[in-house]
Amino acid sequence: MAGATRNVKRSDSIADALPEALKQSRYQMKRCFARYVSKGRRLMKNQQLMEELESTMDDKVEKSKLMEGFLGLVICWTQEAVVLPPFVAFAVRQHPGIWEYVKVNAEDLFVDEITASEFLRFKETIYDERWANDEDALEVDFGAFDLSTPHLSLPSSIGNGMQFISKFLSSKLSENPKNAKSLLDYLLVLNHRGEKLMINGFLDTVSRLQSALILAEVFVSNLPKNMPFEKFEQRFQEWGLEKGWGDTAERVKETVNSLSEILQSPDPVNIDKFLGRVPAIFSIVIFSPHGYFGQADVLGLPDTGGQVVYILDQVRAFEEELLLRIKQQGLTSTPRILVVTRLIPEARGTKCNQELEAILNTKHSHILRVPFRTETGVLHQWVSRFDIYPYLERYARDAASKVLDILEGKPDLIIGNYTDGNLVASLVASKLGVTQGTIAHALEKTKYEDSDVKWKELDPKYHFSCQFTADMISMNTSDFIITSTYQEIAGSKDRPGQYESHNAFTMPGLCRFASGINVFDPKFNIASPGADQSVYFPHTQKHRRLTSFHPAIEELLYSKQDNDEHIGFLADKRKPIIFSMARLDTVKNITGLVEWYGKNSRLRELVNLVVVAGFLDPSKSKDREEISEIKKMHSLIDKYQLKGQLRWISAQNDRVRNGELYRCIADTKGAFVQPALYEAFGLTVIEAMNCGLPTFVTNQGGPAEIIVDGVSGFHIDPTNGDESSNKIANFFARCREDSSYWNRVSTAGLQRINECYTWKIYATKVLNMGTIYGFWRQLNKEEKQAKQRYVKLFYNLQFRNLAKTVPAVDSTSEAVPVSS
Ligand code: UDP
Repeated sequence: MAGATRNVKRSDSIADALPEALKQSRYQMKRCFARYVSKGRRLMKNQQLMEELESTMDDKVEKSKLMEGFLGLVICWTQEAVVLPPFVAFAVRQHPGIWEYVKVNAEDLFVDEITASEFLRFKETIYDERWANDEDALEVDFGAFDLSTPHLSLPSSIGNGMQFISKFLSSKLSENPKNAKSLLDYLLVLNHRGEKLMINGFLDTVSRLQSALILAEVFVSNLPKNMPFEKFEQRFQEWGLEKGWGDTAERVKETVNSLSEILQSPDPVNIDKFLGRVPAIFSIVIFSPHGYFGQADVLGLPDTGGQVVYILDQVRAFEEELLLRIKQQGLTSTPRILVVTRLIPEARGTKCNQELEAILNTKHSHILRVPFRTETGVLHQWVSRFDIYPYLERYARDAASKVLDILEGKPDLIIGNYTDGNLVASLVASKLGVTQGTIAHALEKTKYEDSDVKWKELDPKYHFSCQFTADMISMNTSDFIITSTYQEIAGSKDRPGQYESHNAFTMPGLCRFASGINVFDPKFNIASPGADQSVYFPHTQKHRRLTSFHPAIEELLYSKQDNDEHIGFLADKRKPIIFSMARLDTVKNITGLVEWYGKNSRLRELVNLVVVAGFLDPSKSKDREEISEIKKMHSLIDKYQLKGQLRWISAQNDRVRNGELYRCIADTKGAFVQPALYEAFGLTVIEAMNCGLPTFVTNQGGPAEIIVDGVSGFHIDPTNGDESSNKIANFFARCREDSSYWNRVSTAGLQRINECYTWKIYATKVLNMGTIYGFWRQLNKEEKQAKQRYVKLFYNLQFRNLAKTVPAVDSTSEAVPVSS
């Protein structure tokens, strides 16, 4: 699988400008490069490169001139460099998603532009020279199949794939009338359980369809707007039009009109509108095989956490949206949603050994559990998410046939979660020919530094060879990819995104991904989750407040005695409370917040601090990092004499009560602070804002996308505690002077949530993706098939063998006979 090279030459190419810049600072640069190569072969990260560059110059003026010039910028943009004396190869990321690779000879400062593949080979030399020099080493280039697929070009548009696809569909339909036939074909096959929808076989040409639409539009225009479709259904059938256009004359007219507009002169607005109304999705299958997936008593069990909560909320939102859409389409069908997970016979008191479980607060959604099977029988025990690869292929087959049985047919949309769910979703979706979406939440490769090049070291424990290969397979199979934030895809100015780091990477000795996934691919879409608004609602909605919790919350916040659940007390109850709640990990930086507060006497005078985090007693924790944070908390409380102003409460797991806790904090006219050193999304931010709490969030990661600084809340810099604590103090000082200010920020936060971060918005977006990408895959059929064959080949030749290297959990003692 040889790699094609497609380095787009940019007008501001670094390879073009670098030689001149090096020439101008030749003396310093020679010194700097001599330093880079002096320690021999190695991989250098951005910080080391910057430090060594700075330390080559003594003169302050010279130094700042150089650092601010083009050379300084190039080093600043360089994510990593490979030193193979006399060469240094740089991977330069000037903008999110835009990478260039250059090689500089440290002796003569000669610059060469190189391809991603060449850079990776350079890098491999550090870890496995023989493999790096093997001309026939396995190189995979998924991008080779995307040459005629449209791609975004602006970094700022990344994650808006659906919009881009509607525009592209519109120009594709305009440029070639044959493509209108594809739309007709798409409509001709629409059906639900064999019942034709929208049009029937009589309308087998575009012009027939157009004529029927004209007749229909004139006809419905003369009907009372709210006349139900059944009243004129027969008339429609005479023209070849079936159910599905709408429930009332008015809605039918709008839908008919938007299709007529598309056929006359396609435009993205009508394409969005029309495809958003097409009755193409009635059933959804969501895969989440690993972990104990249940509704009660599962959180806290290994590998079971955020994903379960996300999926259950997601299902409720999907069901609600599907019910609404089906009604508006004038249909009476019932939607079906199946969350397909693993059946674990050794269920530890959970319902994970039950095959089918109805999902609470839904009418038509279930958890379907299918066991892992081996040749010897059903696997009884839980298996870590890192070890489950050998079971997935068979699981996918078993799950597919169970799904077909239960749904009495194919689902209309398949969504995967995390590596295992996405791989199974890919296998099932390509087998059944169904539109597929993937969700990752966390891509493991970016969690562990250099886990790709060091895969051999990590494989015995984590089996990353399987995991990264599986991730590549599903990213490339999937029709669309859902992320919660832009950061997840393309990072920020300085930090590459999780998906972006899969653009070109290598696992020396195994496989080089000359192109893995391109973040400019229009399959990427941001659809942020919301918070459950039945739990997290504004503190001002007095009639909904859960007053029965108030005595317990009063005790939790204000009682004077320390106990197992809380330490510290609040001497002045009249002060507002700044509140934070998170796991007690280093990255969540709760200790950072406590320290900022401790140091800032103005802030201490203005407000009290309450944090909910971890255990209070280090002996209760098994986690080394948490133990050290617990100890740090105690020492900070002593150091800054915080008792009387700070309350530290241990982790609180009652979601419903926590909702009321946020609202009680809002009653004090307080604020929520999320001070993390880095946060991928930040669910607590959404929860707090839903409760009407003004919120301060870290500027590192997803939360900065949720809040518009100074409007719907505030950004703080976790690396600059003084600035951050002053910003919080300024807010409260202003609130003292202007009593309406707090309300304005609180309301603006709620407005932001309701405009962008609700499960309703999420469900609308994702269901629209289902139809738009469903149509797109039909229009793009040949390319999709070609790529799929390549992916399949890769799956067969690579993944299957890797999965065999993962030791199977010994099932003999646990096995029970396979019944089917
Ligand atoms: N949470 C909780 N009790 C705690 C700490 C956190 O219930 O003591 C909940 C919190 O309400 C939120 C989730 O755990 O729903 C944390 O999500 P977030 O995205 O903030 O952080 P994560 O832990 O997922 O990195």
